Amino acid sequence: MKTDVLVVGAGFSGAVVARELASQGADVLVIDKRDHVGGNAHDRLDGNGIRIHPYGPHIFHTNSRRIFDYLSRFTDWRAYEHRVLAQVDGQLVPIPINIDTVNRLYGLELDESTIQEFFDRVREPRDPIRTSEDVVVNAVGQDLYLKFFRGYTRKQWGLDPSQLASSVAARIPTRTNRDDRYFTDTYQAMPKDGYSAMFSRILDHSGIRVELNADFFQLRGDVDARHVVYTGPLDAYYRHCYGRLPYRSLRFEHEHLPTVERYQRVGTVNYPNDHRFTRITEFKHLTGQSHSGTSIVREYPQAEGDPYYPIPRRENEILFQRYDSLAREEKMVTFVGRLAQYRYYNMDQCVGAALKASEYVLQKLGHPSAA
Ligand code: FAD
Ligand code: UDP
Repeated sequence: MKTDVLVVGAGFSGAVVARELASQGADVLVIDKRDHVGGNAHDRLDGNGIRIHPYGPHIFHTNSRRIFDYLSRFTDWRAYEHRVLAQVDGQLVPIPINIDTVNRLYGLELDESTIQEFFDRVREPRDPIRTSEDVVVNAVGQDLYLKFFRGYTRKQWGLDPSQLASSVAARIPTRTNRDDRYFTDTYQAMPKDGYSAMFSRILDHSGIRVELNADFFQLRGDVDARHVVYTGPLDAYYRHCYGRLPYRSLRFEHEHLPTVERYQRVGTVNYPNDHRFTRITEFKHLTGQSHSGTSIVREYPQAEGDPYYPIPRRENEILFQRYDSLAREEKMVTFVGRLAQYRYYNMDQCVGAALKASEYVLQKLGHPSAA
């Protein structure tokens, strides 16, 4: 098989690179070892006609107008602002922690003028802030840390927050108002017909061929490409020559409840201290679908299985850097995406990284538009 560019992986990173290169005249072959496009953002109807995300709930949010406009070429949107409650001390309270969270847990009547005083009283200043424990304790103190973060993080990562980079818990802000949205980005929406329909449109170009059930490591010898864009796990590309780069996995327990129209009040409920799963998501909130039943998913973190999360901590970053030095030497291969760059990217960040990588590949191919 001869092609200008072989793209390994049909998730956000691979699909956007493929589209950008094809739109500049390159001949692109996209392969994925799974039997569908979309990577971890793939969605589909379950056996009962409810749109689910087999690899866990995916909510699109970005502050980048450029990225939102880019994807808007391939999908219409349904406005959706995600809300999450956490089950703590027998109550369901908002996370990120806001004024109502504190008032309900401690029986207080704080408002915007007094909440910061409360945080200042309970917080334990830490300097420097290196770990996820530091971030949270520095902002809200031990009690809220133990209620919301320690148990959840230990389950999710198999590590104590003190063993994880500060960036992990820093994803969750502390609010001094009553905003109970999980994200505050300018653009928050779900693809109207789902992610998979959006991916089909991104990949629908005369310069793109897609081969599913195709593992790069089995067919790399059969493809004659001028350039390879690889979006799988970085260590696998190098046959784990420096040892395994750890990725966290999950087991998803999907359930359909035929006689329950609404299972929970919001899209996701987090369980920091109860159960072995971290959270339950009810998909109808995300998609706005009407149905007499409902479908939910529970997420059970695990070490083995498909790679879903890079694990941000110093020793992993050092190992990543060793692989990355090999990657930087490659003249004909570009590594992009959450798994290949070992970065805890959200979907919009993958689009941004893919647009940047496309420019670089066009340059390598000597394309005039990349000047
Ligand atoms: P992936 O989607 O992982 O795609 C890589 C593809 O490469 C896969 O399809 C894989 O099969 C293929 N591949 C790997 N190796 C090979 C090989 N050897 N041969 C052929 N194919 C191969 N982001 C958000 O913005 N909002 C959210 O709400 C959100 N929720 C998430 C929830 C969960 C549970 C998870 C795990 C992630 C979530 N994300 C969310 C992050 C989002 O999934 C990623 O940012 C994005 O999907 C990554 O895209 P990617 O193309 O880099 O990687
Ligand atoms: N987190 C937590 N308790 C919560 C929510 C989040 O301890 O109720 C921590 C946990 O370490 C988690 C991280 O913050 O992995 C990031 O949370 P996010 O919801 O962004 O995780 P994702 O959706 O990427 O799995």
